[in-house]
Amino acid sequence: MSKQISEKHPRGLYVLFFAEMWERFSYYGMRAILLLFLLDNVRGGMGLDAAEATAVYGLYTASVYLLTLPGGWLADNIFGQKKAIWYGGIIIMLGHIILAIPGGTGIFFLGLVVVAMGTGLLKPNISSIVGELYPEGGARRDAAFSIFYMGINLGSVLGITIVGYLGQKINWHMGFGAAAVGMFLGLIVFRYGSQKYLQGFGDVPPVKVVTAESAAKSGSERKLGYGLVALLVIFLAVLQLQGIIDMSTAQGLAQGAGVIIVSVSLFYFLFILIAGGLTAVEKRRVLVLIVFFLAAAIFWSGFEQAGSSLQIFAERYTQRTFGGWEMPSSWFQNFNGTFILLFAPIMASLWIFLSKRGLNPSTPVKFALALLLVGAGFFIMEMASKVAVTGQLASPFFLTFTYMVHTIGELCLSPVGLSSYTKLAPKRYVSQLMGIWFVAASLGNLIAGLFAGGFDEENLQQMPALFNQVTLFSIGFGLLLLIFWKPVKNWMGGIS
Ligand code: GLN
Repeated sequence: MSKQISEKHPRGLYVLFFAEMWERFSYYGMRAILLLFLLDNVRGGMGLDAAEATAVYGLYTASVYLLTLPGGWLADNIFGQKKAIWYGGIIIMLGHIILAIPGGTGIFFLGLVVVAMGTGLLKPNISSIVGELYPEGGARRDAAFSIFYMGINLGSVLGITIVGYLGQKINWHMGFGAAAVGMFLGLIVFRYGSQKYLQGFGDVPPVKVVTAESAAKSGSERKLGYGLVALLVIFLAVLQLQGIIDMSTAQGLAQGAGVIIVSVSLFYFLFILIAGGLTAVEKRRVLVLIVFFLAAAIFWSGFEQAGSSLQIFAERYTQRTFGGWEMPSSWFQNFNGTFILLFAPIMASLWIFLSKRGLNPSTPVKFALALLLVGAGFFIMEMASKVAVTGQLASPFFLTFTYMVHTIGELCLSPVGLSSYTKLAPKRYVSQLMGIWFVAASLGNLIAGLFAGGFDEENLQQMPALFNQVTLFSIGFGLLLLIFWKPVKNWMGGIS
């Protein structure tokens, strides 16, 4: 792997690396202080209660990943990837500038919406140009994605350190402003770098030729889409009128978003299975993608609590004063990025070492491992919360170890999942199914936010039980996948 990584890569990869690094600087930097700002009622934060604040957090992070669907579509059909990244970056920067204005609730929420829209436009398209740089696929493309993943995490570490420090130690809005500066630097890199090194990639797509057949097909798909929207509206109205969810609150809105995400994904999978014109082999592969979708959604719903329940735990219940200096609680989120930078090359060499001996675990086994690891991380948190309920501060080692096992889990699932989605998807559905991969992350983020709503100071005693639920759920699904990995692998039909 290290040889592949050091092999010469096109300069364009480094343009994308640095542009994505600064974008992730702004995303993770802002995310590190978001929940703290929403909860704070002492330093000019919003002073929301835990249930509302975590629901806003879940809605925001879920939207970021959900909006990658229209973002990918706009690039494929209208702008081309390069323009989508450029406009997306400008929109993100404007969003952070709006967040930097201390202008009250309305302005703040507007800023969040703007950042989410810009990220939806930038995020999927920057990764697809990375793929485009290596049309031959293969090991060089995998190596390029590993380098790119390092850029993501380097950006996250720098962002959390700088934005977290400024936001928590000086002023919330100064932190948000620093995120805007980060995105500005990313735009400069992209502007000058892409003119020189990305010529001929991610350009405006050619106008599609419309035939009578394709027009009829897209017409009937549009009707089906309208039908689904109408059904969803009716379903949500029934839930609201029956008092099952209350969409006038942030929590209710987040629950409504969950209903929409689950229904759309379910419908989409059913649609391509029934009406997608797939062969028997392709159908079985789509079933595997459904299993991976579920596993990924469960994984992210535990993992992405990094910014919700684990952040609350770092802030309130973790000992973080060292020699008289108090570490900003958001810095704990840095352990993820730092461990990725440390472990990614090791894990990549491990997979190569194992596959040379015919021992490389299959993708379903790697997914199962990821779920078991996320469960193990929450088991550690259960132990930590048992210390916290006695009124003592928990040792920082608990969170450190949790982040370590979660990161190893991420490395088993995230890069592997991304590439198996591209490989298993029937050719004509590749980009849509790539979008569905991000929808799993969106659902996970939403649940990660909603789940943390139980972390109220009044509910302190329940904390170990809450963490225990996540452990049981992820380990349960992980074991199921571990038991049934063989049939799942067989359904993959020769693709590993
Ligand atoms: N940490 C990775 C990133 O920021 C993956 C996130 C995800 O897919 N949920 O790109």
